[in-house]
Amino acid sequence: MKKTTGTDRSITRNWRPATQAVRGGTWRSEHGETSEALFLTSGYTFHTAGEVAARFAGEAEGMTYSRLQNPTVAMLEERIALLEGAEACRAQASGMAAMTTALLCQLQTGDHVVAARAAFGSCRWLVDNLLPKFGIETTVIDSAVNEEWDAAIRPNTKVFFFESPANPTLDIVDLECVCGLAKSRGITTVVDNAFATAALQRPIEFGADVIAYSATKLMDGQGRVLAGAVCGSQEFIDEVLLPFQRNTGPNIAPFNAWVVHKGLETLSLRAHKQSENSLELGKFIEGRVPRILHPGLESHPRHALAMKQMDACGPIFSFIVDGREQAHAILDALELIDISNNIGDARSLMCHPASTTHANMGPEAREEMGIPEGMLRINVGLEDIEDLKEDMDRALKAAGL
Ligand SMILES: *Cc1c(COP(=O)(O)O)cnc(C)c1O
Repeated sequence: MKKTTGTDRSITRNWRPATQAVRGGTWRSEHGETSEALFLTSGYTFHTAGEVAARFAGEAEGMTYSRLQNPTVAMLEERIALLEGAEACRAQASGMAAMTTALLCQLQTGDHVVAARAAFGSCRWLVDNLLPKFGIETTVIDSAVNEEWDAAIRPNTKVFFFESPANPTLDIVDLECVCGLAKSRGITTVVDNAFATAALQRPIEFGADVIAYSATKLMDGQGRVLAGAVCGSQEFIDEVLLPFQRNTGPNIAPFNAWVVHKGLETLSLRAHKQSENSLELGKFIEGRVPRILHPGLESHPRHALAMKQMDACGPIFSFIVDGREQAHAILDALELIDISNNIGDARSLMCHPASTTHANMGPEAREEMGIPEGMLRINVGLEDIEDLKEDMDRALKAAGL
């Protein structure tokens, strides 16, 4: 296969992001196909025994088995790395496979992790349940208070783990401050960038070490497949992550990789248009609902910081009404926006975190994370903004707002 990119990245590295999104990570076979090929293969064949021996010994380039390498997956990894500004990337089966791999590949018994309080439910489960099971200590802090990061550091702290914006509270972490602190203390930052993606925020520019993704969300962008990715330095990916991945197998299927790879071509367009719709819908309901958590609005406590770190506010925001009953009444009155707990989709989707994504953790943990019974989270899609406003207006009225 002829790589238009790959080992010689001197040309492609200089392309701007819009070009990378449609050109980066394209390897053409001898057929010269325009659209990247889908390689549904688990293995490879070899001309001679010597050839395969050389590949297994790492002395010759080439693929050996799809848990280790697959051309479609490799194209996705290259495109994500180029967009992220990272040296390397490895795709994963899902966002949670990415988070688990990014943490477990570098941690061991006796280590300590500082993590953000506000987080996706399963990310908190890793911090609260999985890591302690293996003797890895964890401290959960209010990620929006810079001093709390410093105060939580212990001699054995190895990793800072957080999302920004966070799910579903839209907490914003000061990337420059927190990544800078980590760097000065030899701590690795693992940033879950699912809510923004490289189209809106590139944590590496602020000194982050490892970027972990649910590519299920904005990257796919059309709600089709589960996918994940971990980006970092070549050394981290090759020496730390790869041994873990090759031997535990959280790999993405080539078909899912191909779907996400095509999704990336329109990522920036979607992320910006959905951000625009999200901001307008947020302005439309602000003042009508008791509280709104929207990084694009001045009422957000870290609005200025969010806008400094991000190119746009992103498609997701939350708002708080008077309890579960009113929240459910709003959902039930929607005619256009779907009741769904997914995000990043081109369709507008709304959910009630306390009874869905964060139902398992119980009321006390939700309270601690800042998820009240009356919270609703919306992913704003690509529909006409006037239709979205009309639907929201109808739903709020139906619930007495
Ligand atoms: C959805 C999500 C995940 C998990 O991703 P999956 O692809 O569903 O496994 C992790 N972090 C955040 C912030 C998410 O929104």
